Amino acid sequence: MRITVLAGGVGAARYLRGLKRAAPEAEITVVGNTGDDITLFGLRVCPDLDTVMYTLGGGINEDQGWGRHGETFSIRAELAAYGASPDWFTLGDRDFATHILRSQLLAQGQPLSAVTEVLCRRWQPGVRLLPMSDDPVETHVTLDGPGEREVHFQEWWVRMHAATPAARITASGADQARPAPGVLEAISDADVVLFPPSNPVVSIGTILAVPGIRAAVAAKKVIGVSPIIGGAPVRGMADACLTAIGVETSAAAVAAHYGPGLIDGWLVDDQDKATVDILGDDPALAGIAVRALPLLMRDLPATTAIARAARDERAPDGHGRDHRQHPGAQRKGPVRVGPNQNQRRDPDEAFAREQPDQHCQLQQRKYLRPQRPDARRDREPDGQQHEARHPRTDHEPVDGRRGTQDHRRRAQL
Ligand code: GDP
Ligand code: CA
Repeated sequence: MRITVLAGGVGAARYLRGLKRAAPEAEITVVGNTGDDITLFGLRVCPDLDTVMYTLGGGINEDQGWGRHGETFSIRAELAAYGASPDWFTLGDRDFATHILRSQLLAQGQPLSAVTEVLCRRWQPGVRLLPMSDDPVETHVTLDGPGEREVHFQEWWVRMHAATPAARITASGADQARPAPGVLEAISDADVVLFPPSNPVVSIGTILAVPGIRAAVAAKKVIGVSPIIGGAPVRGMADACLTAIGVETSAAAVAAHYGPGLIDGWLVDDQDKATVDILGDDPALAGIAVRALPLLMRDLPATTAIARAARDERAPDGHGRDHRQHPGAQRKGPVRVGPNQNQRRDPDEAFAREQPDQHCQLQQRKYLRPQRPDARRDREPDGQQHEARHPRTDHEPVDGRRGTQDHRRRAQL
């Protein structure tokens, strides 16, 4: 069996551990998000690729879910002694070695996919790990408020804890990016494409923003696992990302956001089992088969059970048919399925303001609950530090003044 997985960082890595156990015979290819990548101290850092590599290779810090175990921080202390910035992104000594070698190989002209292969030779993750693209793509966040300052996603997520609402989230460079070698083939050769419980906007959404990937995925049987349980992300601040693109933080809304043109099956937690009827009752979404089961990846057996359910899900195949049945599902951009919480919080009021031609969205409004921003279970972002400085990147200035000029090269998520 061939399985291809679109992966972010911690949520995906944990899920993949279960998938390897659930499908030991399968050939698993992981297409990793590189929108989180950032250049720090001249070194190229690929947080999501590394989280998958370390987790599957036995090198991860299990407690935090990212970074190396047994880590020390001498280099960081030395950089701080120089007053070097930024100091809000945590890099440990062991982790630095990965970034040094990656940067050296990139500087020698090797593409990121080849470099990732070299790094994986050490870690033997037991899957084929491909970056979504060898071309630079960086997720940028336009902050809500006067001036619409734009920052790298990492600055918003790690330094600002996503506390300032995002007016827009863009995958800078995505329009020009090509899928890395092997990505489209891995998708088209797969028996099933799985979406782990990764962030729908800045993990899976960014991968889908690379031209060619969404269409390749849409042509396959796709089963997704909800990262939202009971109206809140299990970990992190995915609710802030969903709000930025106008999607409610609920398992049903995320399924509707992907739409029947993309996913065939959707696994939700037991506490969200109303999603089964909600999507089933909506003609525009009935093409998505929904199943409820415990979705908390509390340990390896629980995670393996989730992965097995996704692997075995017998959703009807064939997105081509679904596309024709549900023209709305062909929309290119994100489906707006809930009120933007920055603008309005009363769902009834939001319902009244919906445009009459948004039939599909009106259908969905019936079941969407108001978002609960206080319901986050875990607000610990990757690498928690606090310092008001901008990260610097070598190929894409993080500078609001360049925003208009760069606009054509962006994909809004
Ligand atoms: P990141 O790149 O490190 O943020 O990781 P991902 O994008 O791969 O995954 C982040 C998502 O994983 C978050 O939105 C979480 O809600 C979700 N997540 C984390 N742990 C669990 C879990 O145990 N169960 C489910 N269903 N989702 C989880
Ligand atoms: Ca990530």
